[in-house]
Amino acid sequence: MKENNKKGKVFLIGAGPGDEGLLTLRGAEYLRICDVVVYDYLSNKNLLKMARTEAELIYVGKQASAHTFSQVAINQLLIEKANEGKKVARFKGGDPFVFGRGGEEAIALKNAGIEFEVVPGITAGIAALAYAGIPLTHRGVATSAGFITGHEMAGKDTSDINWEKISGLDTIVFYMGVKNLPTIVEKLKTAGRSGDTPAALVHWGTTNQQMTVTGTLNNIVYEVNKKEINPPALIIVGDVVKLRSQLQWFETKPLFGKKIVVTRSRAQASALSEKLRHHGAEVIEMPTIDICPLTDQNLMDSEIRKLGKYNWMVFTSINSVDIFMERLFKSEQDVRAISHLKFAAIGKETAKRLSTYGIIADLIPDRFTSIGVVEEFGKIQPAIKGKHFLIPGSLIARDVIPEGLKELGAHVTTVVIYENRTPEYSADTIDEIFRKNPDLVTFTSSSTVNNLAAILKNTGQEKYIKTIKGASIGPITSETAAEQGVKIILEAEEHTISCLVHTILKTMSGA
Ligand code: SAH
Repeated sequence: MKENNKKGKVFLIGAGPGDEGLLTLRGAEYLRICDVVVYDYLSNKNLLKMARTEAELIYVGKQASAHTFSQVAINQLLIEKANEGKKVARFKGGDPFVFGRGGEEAIALKNAGIEFEVVPGITAGIAALAYAGIPLTHRGVATSAGFITGHEMAGKDTSDINWEKISGLDTIVFYMGVKNLPTIVEKLKTAGRSGDTPAALVHWGTTNQQMTVTGTLNNIVYEVNKKEINPPALIIVGDVVKLRSQLQWFETKPLFGKKIVVTRSRAQASALSEKLRHHGAEVIEMPTIDICPLTDQNLMDSEIRKLGKYNWMVFTSINSVDIFMERLFKSEQDVRAISHLKFAAIGKETAKRLSTYGIIADLIPDRFTSIGVVEEFGKIQPAIKGKHFLIPGSLIARDVIPEGLKELGAHVTTVVIYENRTPEYSADTIDEIFRKNPDLVTFTSSSTVNNLAAILKNTGQEKYIKTIKGASIGPITSETAAEQGVKIILEAEEHTISCLVHTILKTMSGA
């Protein structure tokens, strides 16, 4: 028997049209397990984060004019990697079998005796239309539709496309046709389609760069030239285009077209980023804080052994919750070890994280600042006096809470369980972010301001400090921003993420 005769497998995965949320569950499942990911120009690069950290990522290009790898070379690469026994994801924009050359790749694999699977993706001809508010078919308006390549006629005198036949379809969608738009229009008109037929182009559909131009066969070339539409774009011809005036919903989102930088730590960013994305913003995540749990947790572990003596625990962040729980479980105890305790959580997010461990916070201060917490405890002072408090937190946590509680007569033990560090960035990365000229940079704590300023200075990019338009979570953060010379253009009325988003919406959509 030959050694290492185990062959790998290739998954031809449709990445969907651009919006990350439009990848299928099956596609995500396979992307997560593959050893190699071979991806192209149209597949969303952010989705590659799903791949295992050890996975080999290979870009094979295919931008209209700059072919990085020939098709033959791509086929060979897939075969070669599979023959090494690897699981290979061939990650392609839209659907692999719709103008994606997935069929050719599958044939090459079949001929080489390599097992493959095809995971369909949402093709641009479905998705970009949906995001432009143009139904592909519509009762009473369009009962037939077709997908046509608009690239095929380039450099050819004769065309394989039967123009008579396709011009009779109610809705005609052309892929790869921007450069040939004038020819397409002429061919359709010659084949008998009226010059008044509505037409549209959708550029980078489903992404925050989506741009839609509408007109008729008579004037669409002029409209497209005026707006300088470039590939990738779809051309849609047919009466369904008229429905857009009623049905457009994506480009009208309040933060559509806005670029917003989120500076929270990676672990905390998602709640804010998701909300902003939901309202149509392009979110640029630039964590300014790295949460680093201490490698030596002896102090925490020793308090965990003495939990019986405590009455209250105060959690000031989701990180404290997670790290504490991890230590508790590592000590081979479960939540019954803390069942006698009362819990205070600073901020709704912290309370929410506690609830994922089955704990409902007893106190969630109305005001989400350290001072607010002490005031809330002050209201229930008789119950605080002489009580024992355990507060696990970060090295730089403000000591307003422990000091305030001590003044109220409590016994307070603070334990450092993590450190906030400033992550390293290269000057190029910073330049790339700020050259995009973000509409807003969000600051959710003083540390985010201080660390961003430090990162800009350390990378020699302090020139960008003056260009920042800041959105601050509250007065203390705004004060820090003023000290750092960072301009704040809006401040949340209440110290919460939801309120920050609300204020952003109010300010930006009015702008
Ligand atoms: N397999 C892909 C199509 C690849 S051909 C799919 O199923 O979607 C490349 C062409 O697809 C582009 O020239 C453009 O016409 C179209 N296209 C792909 N993604 C697009 C997008 N997000 N918006 C508009 N057109 C897109």
